[in-house]
Amino acid sequence: MRILLVFGTRPEIIKLGPVYRALNDAGADIDVFWSGQHVELADGLLDLFGMTPTYRGAEVVLQMGLAGKHGVIMQQIDKILREVRYDWVVVQGDTTTAAAAATAAFTSRVPVAHVEAGLRTGTIMSPWPEEFNRRVIGQAAALHFVPTALARDNLLKEGVGPRRIAVVGNTVVDALLYARNRIGSDYVPRDPEVATLPADKKLVLVTLHRRENIGEPMRDILLALRDLGGDGDKIIALPVHLNPGVRADVKAVLGDAPNVRLLAPLFYGDFVHLMGRAWTVVTDSGGVQEEAPTFGLQILIARESTERPEVIEAGFGTLVGSDRGKIVEGVRRLTEGSARQLLPAHNPFGDGAASRRIAECLTESNVKPIECYTSLPSNYRLWQAGR
Ligand code: UDP
Repeated sequence: MRILLVFGTRPEIIKLGPVYRALNDAGADIDVFWSGQHVELADGLLDLFGMTPTYRGAEVVLQMGLAGKHGVIMQQIDKILREVRYDWVVVQGDTTTAAAAATAAFTSRVPVAHVEAGLRTGTIMSPWPEEFNRRVIGQAAALHFVPTALARDNLLKEGVGPRRIAVVGNTVVDALLYARNRIGSDYVPRDPEVATLPADKKLVLVTLHRRENIGEPMRDILLALRDLGGDGDKIIALPVHLNPGVRADVKAVLGDAPNVRLLAPLFYGDFVHLMGRAWTVVTDSGGVQEEAPTFGLQILIARESTERPEVIEAGFGTLVGSDRGKIVEGVRRLTEGSARQLLPAHNPFGDGAASRRIAECLTESNVKPIECYTSLPSNYRLWQAGR
């Protein structure tokens, strides 16, 4: 079984890291393509999961717009697939890297397996361009590894055959448990700024990066954080994303705000460490919405809608958009009292075994290229949530 694992951005590396490890354990022959869509944000991640890219993307990718990146990545994957015959190309999520690789594999008639399939907002422009990317990958994929029953239902509604869908959970939970185990309880953070965050204040962890928040909405969210810093009992920690649009507004609104610490993007171990200390999280990130429930954290989602409604249904998340009043009120409510308000419920996104299920599926299926587009073998397993 020869597999090409493709990723480009920080969240893809985090979510495919445990898949790489599980495939290795299952004896698959794995090559890794890293497009380099994120470079600095990926610092330390490949080492954490013990991955070495077989192929690296072209340096020019960083300078290009989304269409340019898409084209270059497609060409590179196409070149690789002309030279090496893979049984599967595995992509994750909804990035430009994943959409480009899935398209290239489809046109080369190599079966695509999509990890974290089936997420939909139903609105093609939001999130942009991720909703478009997901749908494109959904068309190209022969196998859809969905995190939840809801994601499975989204695909069934689009006409995907049930035997092509496996409900396995989200691999981010596997990554989180792996990282938490690796860093241990006496972890010394890599970033000295993290190590020196005051322990006597209530930690509010914040991440903001979505394109649709940049501009007016972002400024309103940042003003809310400024208000909260003024309360005095909290410390607001914000690892600032490298997106220049995000950086400019963060500096302008929060540069001199009291009790606000602007940090560099954090190594995953440092971020996991902070989630373990936080009282609440304000975020527009997809991955953080999926991770927070493992810590029992109640979070405020700084978006108008989410393709991860399970986090709200399970009681962990509240949508606050960019509403300054709602963010201030929500954080104050979740930081009341002398103890963190953690929920004892299960994480609706997974149990930490998604990667093992994916590896079993891919290595046991014995599907030959092309054949899998029409039928999957009878021993092919479907995992249903709760089974
Ligand atoms: N994360 C990290 N360092 C940070 C902020 C986030 O390692 O400073 C991790 C976080 O735990 C999650 C992932 O990055 O696993 C989320 O990435 P991001 O928010 O960039 O993308 P999204 O999930 O929205 O696609």
